[in-house]
Amino acid sequence: MIHHFLPLTMVEGPGKRSYLWVQGCSIRCQGCAVPWTWDQNKGKKKEIQALFAEIEKSKREHGIEGVTFLGGEPFDQARPLAKLAAMVKEIGLSVMTFTGYLYEDIISSSNPHHMELLQMTDLLVDGPFIKEKLDVSRPWVGSSNQR
Ligand code: SF4
Repeated sequence: MIHHFLPLTMVEGPGKRSYLWVQGCSIRCQGCAVPWTWDQNKGKKKEIQALFAEIEKSKREHGIEGVTFLGGEPFDQARPLAKLAAMVKEIGLSVMTFTGYLYEDIISSSNPHHMELLQMTDLLVDGPFIKEKLDVSRPWVGSSNQR
């Protein structure tokens, strides 16, 4: 379930990228800037193949160097995103993933798809947004606890 796909961005990770904003987040941090992405029933269903075709097109037309998954919570849809990430890497693009989970929680998760998505991720930004730790000094993160 997705919220929005953007073929070209320069702000959600290094270099030129496409981003896939997924719909649905079970973490629900206080002060989250995008609470409208929490409810997974409010998203649009899109096939992996169709998303991949848009990413390929963006690579051809814009010379993107990678794709960023953000949300919402990408690890709540780890299985399809791990598949898409594998396809993306096959054509030489990098994968960046934002998550509200901690890295330690992902590697010890009982959900095997969490590890699959992690293994397909070149650059991970982890941790929940904590509004008391607001951090505007670093790119990509929202609070100082995020790594
Ligand atoms: S994990 Fe991200 S999308 Fe989910 S509530 Fe926290 S800041 Fe919002």
